[in-house]
Amino acid sequence: MQEIKFYSGENIPLELHKVRIVQKLHLVPIERRLEALYEGGFNTFRLSTKDVFLDMLTDSGTNAMSDNQLAAMMQGDDAYAGSQSFYRLEKAVQDVLGKKYLLPVHQGRAAENIIALAYVKKGSLVPMNYHFTTAMAHITDKGGQIVELLYDEAYVVNSDHPFKGNMNIEKLEEVIKRHSAANIPFIRMEASTNLIGGQPFSVQNLRDVRAIADKYGIRIVLDCSLLGENAYLVLKREEEFKNSDMATVLKTMTGLADLCYFSARKISSSRGGGMCTDRLEIMKELEALVPLYEGFLTYGGISVREIEAMAVGLYETLDETMICQSPNFIKYLVDSLYAKGVPMIKPAGVLGAHVDAMQVCAHIPQTEYPAGALAAALFLISGIRGMERGSISNQRDEEGNETYADMELLRLAVPRRVFTLSQIKYVEDRMHWLYDNRELIGGLRFVYEPPVLRFFMGGLEPTSDWPQKLMAKFKADFGESL
Ligand SMILES: *Cc1c(COP(=O)(O)O)cnc(C)c1O
Repeated sequence: MQEIKFYSGENIPLELHKVRIVQKLHLVPIERRLEALYEGGFNTFRLSTKDVFLDMLTDSGTNAMSDNQLAAMMQGDDAYAGSQSFYRLEKAVQDVLGKKYLLPVHQGRAAENIIALAYVKKGSLVPMNYHFTTAMAHITDKGGQIVELLYDEAYVVNSDHPFKGNMNIEKLEEVIKRHSAANIPFIRMEASTNLIGGQPFSVQNLRDVRAIADKYGIRIVLDCSLLGENAYLVLKREEEFKNSDMATVLKTMTGLADLCYFSARKISSSRGGGMCTDRLEIMKELEALVPLYEGFLTYGGISVREIEAMAVGLYETLDETMICQSPNFIKYLVDSLYAKGVPMIKPAGVLGAHVDAMQVCAHIPQTEYPAGALAAALFLISGIRGMERGSISNQRDEEGNETYADMELLRLAVPRRVFTLSQIKYVEDRMHWLYDNRELIGGLRFVYEPPVLRFFMGGLEPTSDWPQKLMAKFKADFGESL
């Protein structure tokens, strides 16, 4: 794709689409935002959107659809079995992801459940580049364990490594030798590794994983939820693909996996999910579970309208001008905050900008959840809702001990095609102010802790009156401004 240069020399990501449907936003006063935090247990998942100005919680199911997607929804063929909508989606999966068989499921984690049900048992070990919360929960739920095999550079916050999501090949082989291939049902590769800052892996790395998998006869399962953006960054960063296109990169990557699954809430900017494979025996093993947990094989718990939007959205993944908006906005936000001294995960990845809470809140011990505290503080002073991706998002171990996260991150998701550049500049401005006032942020403690996936519904409270003090400083600096 050709870059568009500005006469001023400024590096500005230019949208190659226009906005034709709008939704009014509300910025409520800071006093109300403070109340909302107490009502929601200082957990941004529990906020109501009526109190949220810019919703940067997630890129899941919050992306803007195109005119063509909305138009396609009108063609939804309501049928329990044999719906034409399904066949259109199946064709899109064949064309874009290059896989013959498609099994629809209601969202990404449903695929993770079914894959784990089919292949994971007590004593199983699943090597992966890095875990995703729901992927790990479904594997451990079935008695399996995971092992994460990134290279050390993945954990370096300020890096210029283009592919921090790469699997450590030497460690992978070591793990297989130590545990025996018979106990390893599959190797899981996650495109644009979500929890370390949306960091991609290279095609070459996936080829290397394939070589090991073949040597030991192990399947590769590819999590394609963020595959479009991973492919876009391959075009930008991997020499071999400099003059290639999205279609080639996508098919090259999926072609290296035995089984692919995806959350359509991300890839294809719709809602739903799916599993796809070229291998009949894998399809048969999974097929039996779909009607039990999801729905009949031609809808899998998804509305036919969403299936139509998914099919069109998959084709749009091939269009660089559509796929580049979110990663380019993220890069703009990461680079501009970094220039102001805010510690950010670098290089910029996909799905969101990630602030390094471990550094911003260096005065808050990990036992008091620095990333959760930073998320709450940013909401308080701006109405911007980010997501904690740190120790609160981790599960306790079997003995009930805390397992502290490798990284304490505040993720500011940039849903696809949703925000404008002035909104991104507001995020930059308020995060900059918060960074300059970071000493006022204090810790959090749990008052209600659910046993599984505690980050969704858990309730916390501040360890002191720091929110009130932060609010007072905000009012002193901004006066009557919201
Ligand atoms: C979101 C996500 C999932 C889970 O998908 P849902 O549709 O939210 O259930 C799995 N893997 C990755 C990498 C994701 O980003």
